[in-house]
Amino acid sequence: MSDRTLTDPKVIDGKAFAAKLREKIARQVKALKEQHGITPGLAVVLVGEDPASKVYVRNKGEQTKESGMASFEHKLPTTTTQAELLALIDQPNKDPKVNGILCQLPVPKQIDPQAIINAIDPDKDVDGFHVVNAGRLATGGQGLVPCTPYGCLLLLKDRLGDLAGKHAVVIGRSNIVGKPMAQLLLNESCTVTIAHSRTRDLPAEVRRADIVVAAVGRPEMVKGDWLKPGATVIDVGTNRIMGEGGNSHLAGDVDFASASAVAGAITPVRGGVGPMTIACLIRNTMVSAARREGYELAEGL
Ligand code: NDP
Repeated sequence: MSDRTLTDPKVIDGKAFAAKLREKIARQVKALKEQHGITPGLAVVLVGEDPASKVYVRNKGEQTKESGMASFEHKLPTTTTQAELLALIDQPNKDPKVNGILCQLPVPKQIDPQAIINAIDPDKDVDGFHVVNAGRLATGGQGLVPCTPYGCLLLLKDRLGDLAGKHAVVIGRSNIVGKPMAQLLLNESCTVTIAHSRTRDLPAEVRRADIVVAAVGRPEMVKGDWLKPGATVIDVGTNRIMGEGGNSHLAGDVDFASASAVAGAITPVRGGVGPMTIACLIRNTMVSAARREGYELAEGL
């Protein structure tokens, strides 16, 4: 992000918002410790040697500790079997010091990721991917919500206030981003369209939107001339583009240059949605600990 981008009031600064959210979480964690003697704990399980996964796990551990919570890391070799991983998950499931468990994806091919996700206690499923949490989200129950879409929702509410009646177009229907995002927007009384690879005339669908959330995995697919003037655009896409000489850069699913000329507000790809994901993971861990104790959360969490 250039300095000019940072100072453009249209640009939604997810990095700054995530930093404030982490401060709020740290205050809430302090209160949990002082008033209830509880230190929320997050267990992260990493199987294999995927370099990007190692970085994510390290960042999650650091931010967990920075917010005053306990961090437990379990590192397993690439050859781990599904039975071995299921046996390991059983430990944090039963451990009262652990309030949140996540298994870093992707897992090696001999392991079925959904089987692992569904083995996690739903009340400790801080990724919000368990079928019980998907069901709770769909039926208005109290569950744990997937971190990336929840982070997008917080950014949207911060920028737009009440979302009721707005027309939202979510591009992408994955279980981890598109579907829960659409559900969250529906719960805010938006009128929601979910677009995907079989959608006819995607630009025409997007042009009707007050809110566009792009979670596709196709670099710079959404162009400025697809947007209604003044629309709020949330770019979830994180596409690594390899350049010459082995250099690489990240591109979103939205063509920032053309879209930012038309949008009313827009997230950049570095410093937009990305920082919100880990902040919401930490938040979910704290929420899980607070709920177990019947502790009321502060406003805005
Ligand atoms: P998936 O690959 O699981 O889903 C992509 C979705 O996009 C699918 O529903 C697919 O449709 C749809 N799609 C693909 N091509 C088109 C097209 N040409 N037109 C319309 N829709 C299309 O991806 P994820 O949901 O996991 O991730 C989406 C993006 O978000 C990726 O770039 C990923 O890296 C990023 N991401 C970023 C995170 C963050 O923290 N910032 C966290 C998670 C993801 P169909 O279902 O028909 O195949």
